[in-house]
Amino acid sequence: MNIEPIPRAPLGDLNTLAVTATADYLLTIDDAAQIPAAVDFARSRGLPLMVLGQGSNVVFGGDYAGLVLRMMTSGTTVKESGSDVLLEVAAGENWHQLVMNCLDRGYYGLENLALIPGTVGAAPVQNIGAYGVELESVLESVSGWHIDRGEWQLLSRQQCEFGYRDSVFKHALKDRFIISAVTLRLRTEADTHTDYQALRDYLQAHALDAADPRAVAAAVIAIRQSKLPDPAAIPNAGSFFKNPVVSRQQYEQLLQRYPDLVAYPLANDRFKLAAGWLLDRAGWKGKQRNGVGFFAEQALVMINPGHRAGAELMALAEDVRRDIQQQFGVELDIEPRVY
Ligand code: FAD
Ligand code: NAP
Repeated sequence: MNIEPIPRAPLGDLNTLAVTATADYLLTIDDAAQIPAAVDFARSRGLPLMVLGQGSNVVFGGDYAGLVLRMMTSGTTVKESGSDVLLEVAAGENWHQLVMNCLDRGYYGLENLALIPGTVGAAPVQNIGAYGVELESVLESVSGWHIDRGEWQLLSRQQCEFGYRDSVFKHALKDRFIISAVTLRLRTEADTHTDYQALRDYLQAHALDAADPRAVAAAVIAIRQSKLPDPAAIPNAGSFFKNPVVSRQQYEQLLQRYPDLVAYPLANDRFKLAAGWLLDRAGWKGKQRNGVGFFAEQALVMINPGHRAGAELMALAEDVRRDIQQQFGVELDIEPRVY
């Protein structure tokens, strides 16, 4: 198949942090059948290849000396069977648009994941999650091109090895598997999840029915719009750090020193600490340095109002990680993929 990658292509408009960078080559595809030719193009020149969706979870630390494969494929097929609905969705489709289309058609399960930026194909990579629901709860399978095997493959949910903001695509299949489509199993019967305090409070305050998926989606959208910066106005990549997970012993030691610590129990006697609380407590909320900083409404969101280079962002991230380690003895991991 004939493809024509663009040489020396700017990436500044293709990542939500608005980091200026250049790719050696950029290829935008609207047909998954172009994927093998793109892989061959990169291989024949000895170049690395990265897949790009809408760039809402990446940091370009510098220029990308390889081929950027931008997924703009589209299309959805639907199979209804009783109260189950199977949707096979092309990787380049917009995630939030999918959520809203499903609600319109009475297909439920995605309501807590409304307004998450990005493409459908990127959603399994970090097992996107919000308000107590993760993609894995509705994912049936993932299809794509296995780079080393040179063949199309279908991966079951088990094979995706999902974890908290984690999957096989960040480990064994990192840079080895190009997701072309995602199949979701939704329901025509509602079963809402409203455990998160902010969600419950909003539904109650606005007299909305917590059992109605449309009401839950409306609440999620309103809460997110009130506390998260719109990347089009203030460049950002959502949460910059993952919530760290610690042992009960470490949690109890921290709780003694900080009685207002925000943490949630997990299985196996472990605790998830709210990274936003750690940053807030350490004084990073709303702080800016050289045009880069942390959002005043939500400390976990790094913002780049100065449209600075990735190196500036990474220098700040390193200082924050060191500071949090010194103050709390806790290691913070960066959530977006750094290139
Ligand atoms: P990109 O940023 O383009 O890519 C992310 C990674 O996935 C890269 O490593 C890329 O190579 C890989 N990738 C992308 N597409 C494919 C493919 N087809 N095949 C193989 N690999 C691929 N995330 C959450 O989990 N929950 C949230 O609530 C949430 N809220 C956010 C709010 C804001 C304001 C922002 C800016 C981000 C938020 N995010 C959240 C992060 C982000 O939206 C998700 O990670 C999203 O899935 C990224 O999609 P993308 O298309 O932009 O991926
Ligand atoms: P929040 O509601 O203020 O909560 C702060 C943190 O506490 C969250 O990180 C959340 O963990 C955790 N938490 C809250 N209630 C919980 C409960 N009942 N059980 C377990 N953990 C609980 O968070 P927020 O910043 O406004 O974000 C709301 C949701 O959107 C969160 O789920 C968050 O992950 C998601 N979000 C993600 C991104 C991203 O880029 N990844 C960006 C914005 C928002 P979890 O993060 O594990 O849910």
